[in-house]
Amino acid sequence: MPPEKHALLSASSASRWLKCTAAPRFEEGLPENTSEYAEEGRLAHAIGELKVLKKCTPMSTRTYNTRLNKLKKNPLYDPEMDKTTDLYLEHITEQVMDYDSAPTVAVEVRVDFSDYVPEGFGTCDCCIIGGDLLSITDYKHGKGVPVSAVGNPQMKLYALGALRRYAAVFGDTIKRVRMTIDQPRLDSYTTDEITVEELRAWGESIKPIAQRAFSGLGEFVPGDHCRFCRGKAQCRARAKVNTALEDFKDCVPAGSIPADALVPQEHSHTGAVTGEEVHPLLTDAEIGDLLERGAQLVQWYKDLEAYATEALLAGKEIPGWKLVAGRSNRTFTDQDAAIQAVIAAGYDEALVYDRKPKTLSELEKLMGKAEFAEKIGGFVTKPLGKPTLAPASDKREAYAPAASDFAGVKADA
Ligand code: SF4
Repeated sequence: MPPEKHALLSASSASRWLKCTAAPRFEEGLPENTSEYAEEGRLAHAIGELKVLKKCTPMSTRTYNTRLNKLKKNPLYDPEMDKTTDLYLEHITEQVMDYDSAPTVAVEVRVDFSDYVPEGFGTCDCCIIGGDLLSITDYKHGKGVPVSAVGNPQMKLYALGALRRYAAVFGDTIKRVRMTIDQPRLDSYTTDEITVEELRAWGESIKPIAQRAFSGLGEFVPGDHCRFCRGKAQCRARAKVNTALEDFKDCVPAGSIPADALVPQEHSHTGAVTGEEVHPLLTDAEIGDLLERGAQLVQWYKDLEAYATEALLAGKEIPGWKLVAGRSNRTFTDQDAAIQAVIAAGYDEALVYDRKPKTLSELEKLMGKAEFAEKIGGFVTKPLGKPTLAPASDKREAYAPAASDFAGVKADA
């Protein structure tokens, strides 16, 4: 499987270039990292595609098995891929069954959305069309961050491309578009639905932004979207907003605090600063602000560390820094031989071996989700996790046990 060629303004990077219009041309000049994760994802996609093709198009079992076995010979193949792509297939099958009559199903569909985005094209994992509904599904193999289909620009661009591709066959019978992202390894399945009219209006609204991003005259706008940018470590604009003095300077009153400006602590610790008075304790509002800025700073620092490590490994110099060997643990060169030597020395086998059951996740991986749920699901319980700090925008529900439940509980750092 050769690496996929990407458009300058790809659908998968749309959430970035829609906010930072300078990113595409900036990234263009930087080397692309092909990670093992991306290769794994491509392999899982190929397996999923084959399964959907077998289910929805005429394909002999022999051809299917030959192709599947060939994919399984890839050194990156992991049996987990079989399970996750089974779940993807199950979900596609459910969607097909939802149509009143058998819909048209196509996989790995090359879509062109250049009517809206200069030279925009991409590959949509699965398109299902029937009646007035176009359903598109994107399979994501990654298990880093769950990606929601709701309002997702990547999905909207694929949908615009799919409408264009099938216009000749279906004309304007398609009135609704359903967009789904399946991320089985994170148990995340999300769907959004809009009318074709709404989708096209959105496409029109992003045209000038896409033009700006394509022209190379865009603006650098750092934010959460920097996380997947190829230039995240070297970008000066991102460095500028993350430079501690710059970033933190307006969070608290600037300069040294004269002793007579301090108000006594008992006055209030939530307290606002009145006139020239400055309280020695930060207010809760200031702490909220600092945490928000600090999160970006920590992420940026990690990106800098990763960049410098790679550069030093490649033989470059990062002034003031070097690589050292990290901590490591002793290990046997031949564990079996070592254990045999212990037994030969007169130690009882029962003392030498620990018999440990597999973990819950290992058993689920072994049995598959369905059998696991059926046979031992009743033994599974999930206690409420320890309270963990998260931004108010986090999609998880707020932790709200009785106040007494917190007694003695220490929050995660
Ligand atoms: S790191 Fe952020 S600000 Fe810099 S180009 Fe990339 S997305 Fe834009």
